Amino acid sequence: MKVLPADAYVEGVRAGDRALLARAITLVESAHPRHEALAQEVLSRLLPYTGRSRRVGISGVPGVGKSTFIDALGMHLAGLGHRIAVLAIDPSSTVSGGSILGDKTRMARLAREPSAYIRPSPSSGTLGGVARKTRETLLLCEAAGFDVVVVETVGVGQSETVVANLVDFYLVLMLAGAGDELQGIKRGILEVADMLAINKADGDNALRAERARAEYRAALHLMRAGAEPEVTTCSALEGKGIQDLWSSLAAQLDQRHASGELERRRRAQQTGWMWSMVEDGLRAALRAHPAVAALVPVLEADVREGRTPPASAALRILGTFLPGAWPSHTS
Ligand code: GDP
Repeated sequence: MKVLPADAYVEGVRAGDRALLARAITLVESAHPRHEALAQEVLSRLLPYTGRSRRVGISGVPGVGKSTFIDALGMHLAGLGHRIAVLAIDPSSTVSGGSILGDKTRMARLAREPSAYIRPSPSSGTLGGVARKTRETLLLCEAAGFDVVVVETVGVGQSETVVANLVDFYLVLMLAGAGDELQGIKRGILEVADMLAINKADGDNALRAERARAEYRAALHLMRAGAEPEVTTCSALEGKGIQDLWSSLAAQLDQRHASGELERRRRAQQTGWMWSMVEDGLRAALRAHPAVAALVPVLEADVREGRTPPASAALRILGTFLPGAWPSHTS
């Protein structure tokens, strides 16, 4: 990868130059240590121009209609004069050989829309690493003038909390399933959602979607009394309900902005990111430590077989990693 001087990235992104935005994102995504310092310089110089977008997370199981929905929403927003960027977090892409989250072909209209920008998920790394790169990409998009940034992810594993920590508003798309509506729906996602939308509320499914809506409302009332997220229905395919959904979402964000809640959420996210990067760094350093690496298989076997209590094995690992910080153990 050929890098440019920091000025070129900073000025290109500020001017909204897509080719340079794409190169800046590639720089930020690079795992090469030499690129990291440059990426951080570019980011810190662009920081004053960030923070002015509505950051919206959108999750849902594969097939729920995320790309159809984002395509419809994006076209609606483009019609309102917004500039929308779509980013994706897909930590499974390396394992599954690339599920196509964020792929341009899935958002056919939006991909041709000059005011929109679609960027697929970084294709390597852990969920934490992918999320960090996505967060930095989000900042670059804001500096480039996008005023709505959508972060798309499949709602599996830990990704819902990661996305909730990245955005101002977390929208979860659902399907009206046959039978027990709440079956298989992770509680975690309902705890962090700011709005639920039952998609595919069209044709024969419309009535079932209404029923599912009532059931989710009742469940959320129990779970989050006083702070229940709105539950709505839509048809991404027919474009039904998208306008109302956006009006409501934007109104809620405006209200949170006015009350200072949005600012508080973003501030909390900032310190959260700092600590998650510290923890990632510590974990990486721990794994890379030669003496620890030599000790781990032995201790794991000892703990598994009951020869060593987990607590004393943990102390030995920590004492080997940072002698002096923990009581040292010799055996
Ligand atoms: P994703 O995997 O969540 O991105 O889902 P897609 O957007 O690729 O949609 C999966 C399938 O559901 C496609 O065949 C879509 O045409 C269909 N679909 C998406 N939204 C709707 C909808 O509102 N109504 C109906 N009937 N089908 C939809």
